[in-house]
Amino acid sequence: MAAAESDREVPSALCPKFVNFSAKDTASKWLQVSDLPKEVYQHMALYVPQIYCLGPNLNPQREDLRAQLLLQAPLEWYLCGEDPSTGLAKLQQSNQPSQLCGHVFKVGEPTYSCRECAADPTCVLCMQCFLGSVHKEHRYRMTTSGGGGFCDCGDTEAWKKGPYCHKHEPNISDASQEDPLAHMSADMIARCYNVFSIILKYAVDMLTWDKEDELPEGLEPPDRGDTYYCMLFNDEVHTYEQVIYTLQKAVNCTQKEAVSFATTVDRDGRKSVRYGDFQYCEQAKSVIVRNTSRQSKPLRVQVMHSSVVAHQCFALKALAWLGHVIGYSDALRRILCQVGLQRGLEGENSSLVDTLMLCDSKMWKGARNVYHQLFMSSLLMDLKYKKLFAIQFAKNYERLQSDYVKDDHDREFSVTDLSVQMFTVPSLARMLITEEDLMTTIIRTFVDHLRHRDLQGRFQFERYTAQQAFKFRRVQSLIGDLKYVLISRPNEWSDQLREKFLEGLDTFLELLKCMQGMDPVVRQVGQHIEMEPEWEAAFTLQMKLTHIISMMQEWCATDERVLIDAYKMCLAALTHCHSGFTDGEQPITLSMSGHSVDTIRYCVSQEKVSIHLPVSRILAGLHVLLSKSEVAYRFPELLPLSELSPPMLIEHPLRCLVLCAQVHAGMWRRNGFSLVNQIYYYHNVKCRVEMFDKDLTMLQAGASMMDPNHFLMIVLSRFELYHIFSSAECRKRYNRENANKDVIQQNNTLIEEMLHLIMMVVGERFVAGIGQVESCDEIKREIIHQLCIRPMAHSELVKALPENENKETGMERVIDSVASFKKPGVTGRGLYELRPECAKQFNLYFYHYSRADQSKAEEAQRKLKRQNGEDTALPPPVLPPFCPLLASLVNVLQCDVLLSMLGAVLQWAVEPSGGHWSESMLQRVLHLIGMALLEEQQQLENSSEDHDVTFHFTLKISRPGEAPSNTASILALLETLQNAPHLEVHKDMIRWILKTVAVIKTMRERTVAAPVTTSGERSQEELVPDKDKAERKRKAELARLRREKIMAQMSEMQRHFIDENKELFQQSLEELEASSSTSMEHSPTTPDAALLCVGPRRSRPLEKRQVVTCILCQEEQEIRADGKAMVLAAFVQRSTVMSKNRKRPPHDPDRYDPLFMHPDLSFGTHTGSCGHIMHSHCWQRYFEAVQAKEQRRQQRLRVHTSYDVENGEFLCPLCECLSNTVIPLLPRRAKTSSSFEQPGLELWMKSTGQQVRALHSAHRKLNPTSTEEMEETKPEDESPPPDGFAVDHTPTNPYSSTIKEMLTTFGTATYKVGLKVHPNEQDARVPIVCWGSCAYTIQSIERLLVDEDKPLFGSLPCRQDDCLSSLARFGSACWIATSLPTVQAHFIRLLAALVPDPQEKAPCILDIDMFHLLVSLVLSYQAVHCQDSSGLSMDAAQLHFLHLVTVGHLVQILLTSGPVEAAMDQESGGAEREEEEAICRLYNTIRTHLGSSLPELTSGWHLWRCVKAGILPYLRAAALFFHHLNGAPTPPELHGLGSGQWEVLCGYLNLPTNLLQLYCSYQELLEPLLKGWCSHPDMRQTLQGGGSLVSFPRESNRLIDLPDDYSALINQASSFTCPKSGGDKSRAPTLCLVCGTMLCSQSYCCQTELEGDDVGACTAHTFVCGAGLGLFLRVRESQVLFLAGKTKGCFYAPPYLDDYGETDQGLRRGNPLHLCRERYRKIQKLWRQHSVTEEIGHAQEANQTLVGIDWQHL
Ligand SMILES: [Zn+2]
Ligand SMILES: [Zn+2]
Ligand SMILES: [Zn+2]
Ligand SMILES: [Zn+2]
Ligand SMILES: [Zn+2]
Ligand SMILES: [Zn+2]
Ligand SMILES: [Zn+2]
Repeated sequence: MAAAESDREVPSALCPKFVNFSAKDTASKWLQVSDLPKEVYQHMALYVPQIYCLGPNLNPQREDLRAQLLLQAPLEWYLCGEDPSTGLAKLQQSNQPSQLCGHVFKVGEPTYSCRECAADPTCVLCMQCFLGSVHKEHRYRMTTSGGGGFCDCGDTEAWKKGPYCHKHEPNISDASQEDPLAHMSADMIARCYNVFSIILKYAVDMLTWDKEDELPEGLEPPDRGDTYYCMLFNDEVHTYEQVIYTLQKAVNCTQKEAVSFATTVDRDGRKSVRYGDFQYCEQAKSVIVRNTSRQSKPLRVQVMHSSVVAHQCFALKALAWLGHVIGYSDALRRILCQVGLQRGLEGENSSLVDTLMLCDSKMWKGARNVYHQLFMSSLLMDLKYKKLFAIQFAKNYERLQSDYVKDDHDREFSVTDLSVQMFTVPSLARMLITEEDLMTTIIRTFVDHLRHRDLQGRFQFERYTAQQAFKFRRVQSLIGDLKYVLISRPNEWSDQLREKFLEGLDTFLELLKCMQGMDPVVRQVGQHIEMEPEWEAAFTLQMKLTHIISMMQEWCATDERVLIDAYKMCLAALTHCHSGFTDGEQPITLSMSGHSVDTIRYCVSQEKVSIHLPVSRILAGLHVLLSKSEVAYRFPELLPLSELSPPMLIEHPLRCLVLCAQVHAGMWRRNGFSLVNQIYYYHNVKCRVEMFDKDLTMLQAGASMMDPNHFLMIVLSRFELYHIFSSAECRKRYNRENANKDVIQQNNTLIEEMLHLIMMVVGERFVAGIGQVESCDEIKREIIHQLCIRPMAHSELVKALPENENKETGMERVIDSVASFKKPGVTGRGLYELRPECAKQFNLYFYHYSRADQSKAEEAQRKLKRQNGEDTALPPPVLPPFCPLLASLVNVLQCDVLLSMLGAVLQWAVEPSGGHWSESMLQRVLHLIGMALLEEQQQLENSSEDHDVTFHFTLKISRPGEAPSNTASILALLETLQNAPHLEVHKDMIRWILKTVAVIKTMRERTVAAPVTTSGERSQEELVPDKDKAERKRKAELARLRREKIMAQMSEMQRHFIDENKELFQQSLEELEASSSTSMEHSPTTPDAALLCVGPRRSRPLEKRQVVTCILCQEEQEIRADGKAMVLAAFVQRSTVMSKNRKRPPHDPDRYDPLFMHPDLSFGTHTGSCGHIMHSHCWQRYFEAVQAKEQRRQQRLRVHTSYDVENGEFLCPLCECLSNTVIPLLPRRAKTSSSFEQPGLELWMKSTGQQVRALHSAHRKLNPTSTEEMEETKPEDESPPPDGFAVDHTPTNPYSSTIKEMLTTFGTATYKVGLKVHPNEQDARVPIVCWGSCAYTIQSIERLLVDEDKPLFGSLPCRQDDCLSSLARFGSACWIATSLPTVQAHFIRLLAALVPDPQEKAPCILDIDMFHLLVSLVLSYQAVHCQDSSGLSMDAAQLHFLHLVTVGHLVQILLTSGPVEAAMDQESGGAEREEEEAICRLYNTIRTHLGSSLPELTSGWHLWRCVKAGILPYLRAAALFFHHLNGAPTPPELHGLGSGQWEVLCGYLNLPTNLLQLYCSYQELLEPLLKGWCSHPDMRQTLQGGGSLVSFPRESNRLIDLPDDYSALINQASSFTCPKSGGDKSRAPTLCLVCGTMLCSQSYCCQTELEGDDVGACTAHTFVCGAGLGLFLRVRESQVLFLAGKTKGCFYAPPYLDDYGETDQGLRRGNPLHLCRERYRKIQKLWRQHSVTEEIGHAQEANQTLVGIDWQHL
């Protein structure tokens, strides 16, 4: 919208009523008046109703034009004080533009965020800014915008580095500090102020106006008609269908109109559905209300006076106008901000901006969008006013959020969605926290909305209604706001910030207190729970809060005083939660191994227990921070350490961990899946940081403050295992406990779990603050343990690691130090492999392993060790030392209670008995012993004096038990176990333990004398006895032999597998087969004889007999004409792969005459085969079985298969390749070696002419219906047939009945698919389609070989060779399945295209594809030849056809080669000179015949080059054809790519190297033909561009070029709009890879009808562009889509990879994506070799869900 050019010109053209209006005059009048608002209102009251809403059909263009001239122009004149076109331009010129980009994103537009420099992930750049910024060299993330939000370029707070792109770099004379109003005259400022306040006030008044029939004061229209609108409003309750149905009833509209109404209502929020007098509209309203009020609240409808609607329309326009005008100058923007935020008469929160915000939820979508846009381009773009706006926003926050929660519109349509624009600015966020209590406000508002509490004040989600659940979802957006506020941590703290943060934390703890202990569970005994309890809401809350909890801790970590106060607050909160901790629970005393402790009696399996303990967990987190920041040692006096009660701290986390153990042990089976799910999430990477991990931390913290024996006894008691280990007789467990097997099993699992827990408490030290590690060590360790399972892709690793609030795992920083990257091939993805040196850090009992992970990792690591020839013990890794605060934890490993437990388990293992112990129990005990030994070894190594070492594990395990039991020592037990036959698996580990004990003993001895210098491991190696070494060597040798044997078996199996999974091995197989087929064919040829594939002297095939094996019955069968039919599974499909004209409309299948293929090859029929051969009767039986099975299955369940049986489709029984027919295998034609001298071309043409004439008359006699022809019959036509040609001779059918049947089967199938018609074996076009398919398939293979740089022969896989031979031979036998006269008639018509025949009308040679003509002529001639007994050989005829067609093609190329560029004439040698002269002669002859429509010849040399290049594909295709038809061996030169191919090729085809000799030698004979071709009526028209002229050689088609950077595609798609619904963004823009068309896929708007079905844009396009087949790229999804027909489709990996060699289907990860050319070539190859349908078939077989997708709607 630009300012009006000039004042009076246009309106006169518009409407006579407004002719005398002058914006300038109006503006000058306004300058005079005293009460400007009143004057402007009067103006609007007069004009607005005359412009807007004049009837039922609106004309937005006319309205806008009039509004511009009558309403906006005077305002602009007033504003500028001169012609606005000059005034605004001046403003723009003097404007110092803000350095903020502020580009507002469209839906689907790409946005970029720098992972290194962005302050948080919400800071994004638009594409232009990104490309001009430093970040494009950094690690960045790319996403597509959901619409709204703007580019943060230029915002210094949004970026740690490089905040400006080139374009937004501020000038050196920094204008940002300056007041933008400084340069504006006071006069102008006043005028702007006036206009803006009047217009903004007007807009706010109108948009928030809720009266239907009145207008605000001063706006009443001068004359008021009885004109109303029935306005329908959007809600999220009623469905599209309901609305459409109701509208049809209420306002009597068509379905289509109703859909359009509903769409607009959905998009804009309201739409008038009826115009008329009040009564009329009211009636519609009542129908709508009545119809929609039955189940829910009715649709909102208002009957509004037209003037009200008119003013509302203009109000929206006015807001847009304001946004436009302030775009000219920052000064205007500032004035508007001032106007907007100026406090109104009602005091606080009464500015116009406040009014808009507070009415937000009452406005319709369209209005909200417009004013949100204005806020973004004004308030949020002015740094000063952004702050003021933020304050107002914060003040209104609670009210806005409550309105939002009550409203039902999505958040993107709510003003609350603007929070991200302010809260993520660190300085604003901090200001709002300190000055507006924002943190507390957000949390309090959140808590207020979750009202359901139980008696203890905890949240209760149990019986949540759907409405409450809906509300709960909306409330969650508050957590998002809180996250924004906290996302950047302060570097400096003011006292005020401390105070307000702690206040916020206090409120937050109130929230956590409501969660502590929520959703408790009680173990169900006896019967299963009746109803799965609701658990998801609580976990959703936990998951949403996880990052907040972590961030709170991180804030605390940055300030010691805050940390100390926070710790105290958390402790107080926890104490409050547990105030009733011991109530009602009896204290008991536990004692074991001489220690005793008091605790309470509590059983997890009997009482309430909850997984939700956020207060304990946040305290655990702070405890670690105390240790990490060393505050614990520096200010112990400030900490309430003495108030800590360790048993209280550990109690609830321990219960929770015991609950998990009991669930594993199967004790909670009756509590159903909800509990299993909760346990799963408790450990899951999304939650564990603030759940499982922190519980463990709390146990570590508690245990470090307790006597380890006491700690362990409490653990035993909570695990309900105390009674097992406490009795003195515990070592003889098997004697006493002969109870229920289930109980034993349960207890075994519980013991295992408990031992694991002890390992974790002592061993998990990789969190900074617990152990002495850096934060990167933690992540390194996570990655190592993931990669110990198997090599993983980048994305898999990311998924396994917890992300922080910035969506970063920190993996990139460390990955290279622990893993090496393996690039992907053409399939698969890049993988990270663990560096071998990292394997020794492997801990089998890593705390984040699931049980499945653990066993996979164990297996992998043992295998690795075996491969390296090492023993298979997996001892614990060496651990870093604890931080001082937790250092005492190591004593758990050597305390008496633990030793007694270890001893007990070992004792059970020594004397095994049925099921009272388990191997994994023993394994854990051994691991714990190993941990203790390593601890002792470490301490010895790190201390200079022996007495520093307080750890005496070796000593303690050597001591036998005390009297009276006198049990064996642990060491003794281990020595016993070493030889136990039932513990073979653990031998290596026991041996390792004993060795380590020995090493430590040596160390202890040595330390007395000298410090230890050797590292533990090396000394271990030294100690390995020789005997041991020998033994290991022997074992390794045995293992090697075993491996070799297995390998041999494997390769045997693989061979079978290859047969069965052919497509997987296609490539390697193809090579294999190719080489074998080559060697077979040309080895025994006589080297001297030139090989010929056509002509009377053609070379004989090598093998006489062809024997094949049926894949179904495995019987061998020779191929013979009279034998059983053998068939090849085949797939026939329509193809446009070689099309040179995609605009050609599809043929009418019933009328189309396919005899002549046009050279643009726009539609062809391709036949392919997997090469698997069957007996025809075996196949028929198989196919019938498939049909029957399919029928049964369809009756049972309506599921589809990947193939359509009703359409004759089936899967090859061997390779499951999609097929739809079979081709019979036919024997080669025997060579008739007659002594008869074969006639030359002239003679042959003459006799063929006679044959044709004889046939003509014979056919007429046969078919006398056409009277016209009878009359035309002239006596000379009754010429006698040539000698030996018997028109009435009926040739014998050489084929057996089964072969004949198969001939019909294949012919009919090809006809049906090729023409898309119903099968009709009688149709005359059957043979034509078959010949066409043969020619098309050969041509496409010839192109493929060129494109792949492969030689003509020898590189085709067997399956294609077989397929081509069968196709060619089938073609020549067609006449047997069809009638002889039909084929003869085709022949006559075909020949007439070259040799003029007065009775046939032939097309112009420019409209004929010559190779198709050649193939059809040769194949149809068989039908004529079989009636000839003159001795004329078929071979001679073939050669003559080749000559004739080749000459025709030469002429065709000369005609189409276009003006030859004047190139330097080259000196050429004798032979070439001859060719040059000949070509010139021929060219000039053609010119003479044509007049001068051909350009003059300039260079003969160049022309000859063009002709050679143009005819080469034809010659190559001809060689393939005759080779397969006649079975002649191929010359070895054509098995390579070397030079001299031309000569060999011509020779093989029995043609002279100088092709022009074909013409020159028979000039007199051919001259009349040439003349005939040139004088064809269509010739001149085609040459002059009337038809589509194809030039030769035809270039191979390629898929469209794709950009290297994927975001270029996203950008392209984001500006693509749906072609049907004017200007709307398309939701699923999809790119056709064949022609580059962008489509609006998967959407109602672009559905069309195709053959009676509704189909989406993609399916519709495939029928135009690809004969039903399509390859697409779904841009938003980054996914390739293959479609075939209406029902078949699959998704395919896109050719775009990120730096980690992975695709990103669905664009979820946002790593930059770049084109992988190899992968794109692979897709192109699939397309070119017609394998897309096959690929779809395989994909659907592999993934049944693909079958169910409605592909046709895409
Ligand atoms: Zn930008
Ligand atoms: Zn920029
Ligand atoms: Zn950066
Ligand atoms: Zn068979
Ligand atoms: Zn097969
Ligand atoms: Zn296309
Ligand atoms: Zn569309």
